[in-house]
Amino acid sequence: MSGVTSTWTEPSNSPVALLLLGHGTDPASERGVDCPGDLPAPSDPGLVARATAAKAALGDRVFVLGHHYQRDEVIQFADVTGDSFKLAQQAAARPEAEFIVFCGVHFMAESADILTKPSQRVILPDLAAGCSMADMAVLGQVETAWEHFEDLGITDQIVPVTYMNSSADIKGFVGRNSGVVCTSSNAKRALTWSFEQGSKVFFLPDQHLGRNTAVLEMGFDLDDCVLYDPHKPHGGLTGEQLRNARMILWRGHCSVHGRFTIDSVREVRERVPGVNVLVHPECRHDVVRAADYVGSTEYIIRALDAAPAGSAWAVGTELNLVRRLALAHPDKQIMFLDRAVCYCSTMNRIDLPHLVWALEELVAGRVPNVITVDEKTAREARVALDQMLALP
Ligand code: SF4
Repeated sequence: MSGVTSTWTEPSNSPVALLLLGHGTDPASERGVDCPGDLPAPSDPGLVARATAAKAALGDRVFVLGHHYQRDEVIQFADVTGDSFKLAQQAAARPEAEFIVFCGVHFMAESADILTKPSQRVILPDLAAGCSMADMAVLGQVETAWEHFEDLGITDQIVPVTYMNSSADIKGFVGRNSGVVCTSSNAKRALTWSFEQGSKVFFLPDQHLGRNTAVLEMGFDLDDCVLYDPHKPHGGLTGEQLRNARMILWRGHCSVHGRFTIDSVREVRERVPGVNVLVHPECRHDVVRAADYVGSTEYIIRALDAAPAGSAWAVGTELNLVRRLALAHPDKQIMFLDRAVCYCSTMNRIDLPHLVWALEELVAGRVPNVITVDEKTAREARVALDQMLALP
């Protein structure tokens, strides 16, 4: 860890985060609108048989992707599991599949649509499966911020970087402004490249991944980072603060990983002597600093696979994944970092009834819940995705 000369306090949650996790229809949001489907009852005892039969009837025409945070009842039907980028790549590697059923959230399905052939159709079994973090960066807000940076005369110094967990139009904005997409696995490489192109980074939408990478992996000081709040005039920052900043962090966060606190870490260390604390970099800065290990979802899986028998691990990431890892490694003591339940509520919207409905619709010759990104946005977003793939 680098020498940090100042302290940082977590700002209170934005009311927007709560609104976006609610129910109902919000066409302006990244997650889209409520599912129009006539769903089978969750209590239907034949759901597993129906999903099995529909998938078999579709054969190679369908390819089912399952994000690591999905429920077991859905994951059992996935042809491949992974994080968002791995899944988009897997979809692109299956050109023979006419239908990609994406068991994940909206921005992931958009990325799959961008990376697959035009003839392939990407289906999200529940259109309301969005991402509260992606919703925290809306294109109009980001363009307003950029116009302000233009007024300050600093845009030629700034490289925009967006986390994979953002809408296609934010990726498009980054692509047309010569920036790059990053994942939690390659954020350091993306920032290193960006600081070779300019002296500042505008990091969207996850403040924690941006801050944790810059400060803990690249040696920046917390004072090099400023937090741009889209709900305040000029982001709540003075021109001088923006001119001096190296990292301009968008005020967004993951509602799931943001729930872990320093008290969760203290409590588990008291309760389980010798426990290893392993967290995702979407967690708050103080939590990541207090942990023993930090890394992406794929890193967490590999770390637990490689852990010695008998070792104890408290894991700070989504609960469906932690529970599956605990079941897969009965010789290790794997527990959730916090005592409170912490599912991703929007990921959990994809359940077996939605999957059965989507597959049976395809069998019947109807294509439900297609996620499409318009050509211009897709082209610009692809520039930022290709830049990520070309990172040294
Ligand atoms: S876990 Fe967080 S970042 Fe991932 S989909 Fe859920 S809200 Fe979004």
